[in-house]
Amino acid sequence: MEAKLIQKIWFDPTLCLIEGRWKPAASGGTLPLINPSDGTEICRIARGSEPDIDAAVQAAQTALQWDWGRKTALERGRILTRLGQLVLERADDLAQLEAMDVGKPLTQARADAVALARYCEFYGGAADKVMGETIPYLDGYTVYTLREPHGVTGHIVPWNYPMQIIGRSVGAALAMGNACVLKPAEEACLTALAFAHLAQQAGLPAGALNVVPGLGSEAGAALSAHPGVNHISFTGSVATGALVQQAAGRNVVPVTLELGGKSPQLVFDDADLDAALPFLVNAGIQNAGQTCSASSRILVQRGVYDQVKSRMSEAYEQLTVGPAIQDMRVGPLISDRQKQIVSGFLDKGADLTIAAQGRIVREAPETGAYVRPTLFADVSPDHVLARDEIFGPVQVLIPFDTEEQALTIANSTEYGLVASIWTRDGARQMRLAKALHSGQVFINNYGAGGGVELPFGGVGKSGHGREKGFEALYGFSQLKTVAAYHG
Ligand code: NAD
Repeated sequence: MEAKLIQKIWFDPTLCLIEGRWKPAASGGTLPLINPSDGTEICRIARGSEPDIDAAVQAAQTALQWDWGRKTALERGRILTRLGQLVLERADDLAQLEAMDVGKPLTQARADAVALARYCEFYGGAADKVMGETIPYLDGYTVYTLREPHGVTGHIVPWNYPMQIIGRSVGAALAMGNACVLKPAEEACLTALAFAHLAQQAGLPAGALNVVPGLGSEAGAALSAHPGVNHISFTGSVATGALVQQAAGRNVVPVTLELGGKSPQLVFDDADLDAALPFLVNAGIQNAGQTCSASSRILVQRGVYDQVKSRMSEAYEQLTVGPAIQDMRVGPLISDRQKQIVSGFLDKGADLTIAAQGRIVREAPETGAYVRPTLFADVSPDHVLARDEIFGPVQVLIPFDTEEQALTIANSTEYGLVASIWTRDGARQMRLAKALHSGQVFINNYGAGGGVELPFGGVGKSGHGREKGFEALYGFSQLKTVAAYHG
């Protein structure tokens, strides 16, 4: 089965893309890429480092001076739209690569490929619709603003949703006319490489997109510190995000940080539980909980607490965990290292009550990075499992009595990425939507299907800056004010 998957790598995965040419890392070094479903090595990838990043940044600068920099917004949009079509045509192949590389169940991997296509379509269509404004000013002046690209944009992408994160950051940056240097995660970079091949097929000029796989401490650090980079988009951990921001700060370069969360769902006594239940569970176990916007805290009002607990427990007992190719609800974690992190958290919950757990299927190889999805009940908001980002299929149920109490608990972590409110009370919906510390708030749903149109980003330790939607186009551009005096 896995041998068949390896045939799906229709390109040489050991190369970097720099100035339109595929080449090995300057050092000649490579790194192993591991399949988390069984722990086997899939292939080697380039171990890019400073000289490769330097060449990639120079290639991007050259592209901005020549072919790519001279394209009109309409031409950029057409290339992105074509790229979206190619991604859609290859969605099954991309899904197979992602399943093998990330351990993502096939259906979820395919949804990511379709989302990548949708980002290309959305930003392709939006490229020529970003406009400045005219500003009424003193007599004798005409004042207007121009939206211009930053120049070279660096994109440091994690392993959990490579396709979606590339779509929302590289797609928007290219639409605005930036030239990109993409550093995918060392654990998962096959779809980044595949995407770059498709971009070439779509007619993206040399140097507009450069891809340098490698370790974070080598290629990633070199990209965030490079003085030729004009903007950085980073998605990943708080600790690494802070390092990236420090390095970029030395060059006085703007940074967008998307750093995860501890996102709550607030379930009130008057909620439509039939509607809520699938979201309560799915938002915690999708992609094995390795989702920045995962909902790991379920706050439930006392009147329905027992009912929610028993219905979520039933759902957990139905959850099966197995190899990505078998397309169960839950796949493996990305790596043994991540399994150790999540198991460490489960150990820290030894003093808690486990309401229910999912089941690892017998066919799951022992060498895979599997953990049992776990629902903890009656958890105090102060417990470490209710405060820290776990990044695994683990949720905690926290009971509350009043709306005020729910709000205090919801806002009590250092994160603020996503929150949702389940209630039929319209006034409460409005009050809480305003009061929750969160970049996105959903009312009687969670995630709204993930729409590419919806601006996304956090407050507090969840980061700053917004990606997705039109807002990303503003983030990947800078505003110039022109004031003409004509008397
Ligand atoms: P990480 O933040 O270290 O890695 C994310 C990206 O940053 C990767 O491409 C990596 O190569 C790069 N990177 C690493 N060190 C770097 C450096 N010094 N300079 C520049 N780039 C660097 O995350 P991780 O180690 O893969 O995972 C650790 C934890 O981070 C997880 O357990 C999870 O809690 C969190 N995480 C969050 C997200 C998210 O979407 N918010 C994604 C991945 C991981």
